[in-house]
This record gives sequence, structure tokens and C-alpha cells, in this order.
Amino acid sequence: MGRRLVLGVAFALVALIGFVAWVKLERRRPTAALARPPAALGRGGTIDVTLRDVGTGLAWGRVEVESNGATTVLASEAYPAQTWRGSGLFETTISTPLAPIDHKLGEGPATLRVFAGDYSWLRWLRSDPAVLEAPFTIDLSPPTLEVLSPQHHLTLGGLEFMLYKTSPDAVRSGVAVASYFFPGTAGLFADPTIHAAFFAMPQDLDRTTAAKAVAEDAAGNRREVMLHAVVKPRTFADRTLDLDDAFLERKVPEILAASRLPAQPDLVQGYLYVNRTVRRNSEVRIKDVTRASAATPRWDGAFLRQPNSAPLAGFGDRRSYRHDGAIIDTQTHLGYDLASLRQAPVVAASAGTVVLADYLGIYGDAVIIDHGLGIFSLYGHLSAITVRRGQEVQRGETVGRTGETGLAGGDHLHFSVMLYGVHVDPVEWWDGKWIRDHVTAKLEQYPRATTTATRDE
Ligand SMILES: [Zn+2]
Repeated sequence: MGRRLVLGVAFALVALIGFVAWVKLERRRPTAALARPPAALGRGGTIDVTLRDVGTGLAWGRVEVESNGATTVLASEAYPAQTWRGSGLFETTISTPLAPIDHKLGEGPATLRVFAGDYSWLRWLRSDPAVLEAPFTIDLSPPTLEVLSPQHHLTLGGLEFMLYKTSPDAVRSGVAVASYFFPGTAGLFADPTIHAAFFAMPQDLDRTTAAKAVAEDAAGNRREVMLHAVVKPRTFADRTLDLDDAFLERKVPEILAASRLPAQPDLVQGYLYVNRTVRRNSEVRIKDVTRASAATPRWDGAFLRQPNSAPLAGFGDRRSYRHDGAIIDTQTHLGYDLASLRQAPVVAASAGTVVLADYLGIYGDAVIIDHGLGIFSLYGHLSAITVRRGQEVQRGETVGRTGETGLAGGDHLHFSVMLYGVHVDPVEWWDGKWIRDHVTAKLEQYPRATTTATRDE
């Protein structure tokens, strides 16, 4: 009996020691992975390293940079043990700014090293090599940026064209106006450093908003140059639209069904959903399909205006919607409403590529054409679409027929001109003199490239 007990205790002890040793003598070292490879890092650069361990868990982690023969510790973290096994922390991310100025790191090649340890007993025996090592470049110099066009004249809600030079290290350049960013296009000119960019003073901004040319390199170094821009004031018309129940009953279920949205029991609530949420979603989709544009201008002179049409509504109209005597909503009208005959042929304003030929929320059946350098035209409320996505069209070519699909009370064409999805006043594009003075004259200032242009991102 006693011998059995001794044997039992001895066996249990051996099993316990064996189990603890099995747990604590695990050989799997921590690993590290970078969120993105740090090809080049600048003043605002950050390093995100995810540390992982299996078994005992992470004990500590350290991120170092070696530059010009000196080592700088950017971050050092300790993860205390929670049980006899270890910390129980199997994954964590260290996010640390490079802060090259604070750390007195100079420009040039550098090496990132990550070290990490766990709670394995083997840590007392083994050496401690870096679990991750990555070469990168510290770059503190922003690209050069020179604005070539001295003066810029716009009207609120309208466009201007500008030229600038930037050094080849720029990976993103263009014009920033408040939170709007309008990318520039390279490759138009024999001098490859010259870029062209349209920019807008969008109708929802104050006309004194600063417009800045911007160039950024891969390390995030940014150069900004304030543009000399004179923005003419303008007022937009205030219009009140009366909504009757017959209109709501006809339109709300149609748009919700065509947008594959559930029916709304209350007609006014359904209308508000369409006028706000579906409207917003339509603009998100427009932004998406107008993200990339041809790198050469596809227009030749003024845009064609829908023939024999009378304007029903203009660009930037501030609309109030009245139902049963109460104003239930306000929205801005972002194009021209042009009416002629029912189901009249709709013509392409200028040559380009069809980027959308589909149902588009409040715009109903619609066509969007890319005319290059970020300029797009939109044709909405169509009763028929006669082109398909990807198709090349010529100025004056029929793309569909007018109708009243989407949020339209009668047969008409909704026509918009957009810069990378930002609606601008189409009147400038119907005006050959405006295009000559603001665009063509600047394009003719420098010899053009003979090869095909490419677009910046
Ligand atoms: Zn309209």
C-alpha cells in the first residue's frame, strides 16, 4: 500500500515536471511582421510591427533603427507574466513614429530591426537575434514644386486649369481645395516634369477658400504652394419644389425597387430616404466610376448642348421641398435640367469613353462619359441607354433618349459636368472662348509630348 503511494506520488511528480518542462521548454520563438514594407520614411513616417508568439506568450518587444552606424531604440515594451506559463499575450502591435528629427536621424539608407522574447526557459540559453530586419531609406526632403501658371481666375462652382513642375520623386500631386483633392496629370508635355491639373472651387465652399498645389513623395514628405486664385462670387437660385402625393406614389417605390432597397411604409419617409440617402449613395458611385480618367484631353472645342432644349433648372440651385405646406427637405441641384421633346435623342457633349451606362439612383438610367484629365459628363433620367460601358463615343453621337427615370417629375435630361466626380457648372464647357482662354492657351505654352501620357495617382 505504502509502496504504491510512493510510486503514485513519484509518477505524478514526474508527470508534473514533464508537463511543466514541455510547456516551458517550447522552442518556438516570437515572430514579427510589418504592416507595410518601409521603402522610404519621412518626417511623418510610422512603423507598425505585429509581434506573435505561440506557447508561453510574448515577454518583451523592441524596435530599433540603425542609421549612419548608430542604433536608436524607437520603442521598447515589456509584457508581464500573468501565470506560471507566461504572459498569455500571443499577438500585439507596436506602432511607433520614426520621428527622425527628434531622434536626430539623417537622410540615407537605414536598417529597421525588431527584437522580441517569450517566456520559454530556453530564452536563458539562446542568443537573441533580430526577429525581423528590413532595409529602408530615410527621406526628409519633399519633392520640388513650381507653379507655372501665374494667375488663376474662377467662378464659385467652376473650374480652372493650371500647370506645375514637380521632381520625379513625387508619387502624388495636384491641387487641394479644403478637403477636395484634384490629381494632376503627367506626360502631356515634352518636359516630363510638367503636370497639368484642373481644379474646382466647389459650389459648397466659401469662395475665399485657399487652393494649394501639393506634391508628396513615397515617404509622405509634402510640399504645398499657395495658388494665386481669384474667385468670382456668385449666388445660386433658391427654388421651392412642391411634392404632391401622386408624384411620391409614382417615384418612391420605383427608385427603391430599382436600387434594390426595401419598400418604405410611409411615403414621405420613403421620399426623404431617396432624397437624402439614395442621393448620397449615387454621388459615392459617381466618385467611384470617375476615379481614373484618360491622360489626354478628348474634347475639341466647346461641349455640345442638348439640341433644341430649354433649361428647367440650373447648376447649384438651392432646392426646398414642400409637402402639405411644410418644407420637409433641402438639397442642391448639381447640374442642368434640359427639356425638349419626349424621348428626344441624347447626344454626347464631346468625344470620350463611356464609364457608366446603368441605373444610378436619383439620376435613374444614366450615362457617364470620360473626356480626359478628370473631366466627365453625366446624362440622367434616360428612358433608353444606347451605349455600353467601355464604348468610345464621338461628339454628337446618340447615347440614349430623354425620359423621367429616377427623381424626375417629367421627361427631361439632367446634364452634369464633373471633375473627378465633383460637379461643376457646365456653362464653362458650353463656352468655346472659356475653354480657349483657360485651357487651350495654357496647353499651347509648352511643347507637347509625342508619346502617350500616363496619369498620376
Ligand atoms: Zn436635374
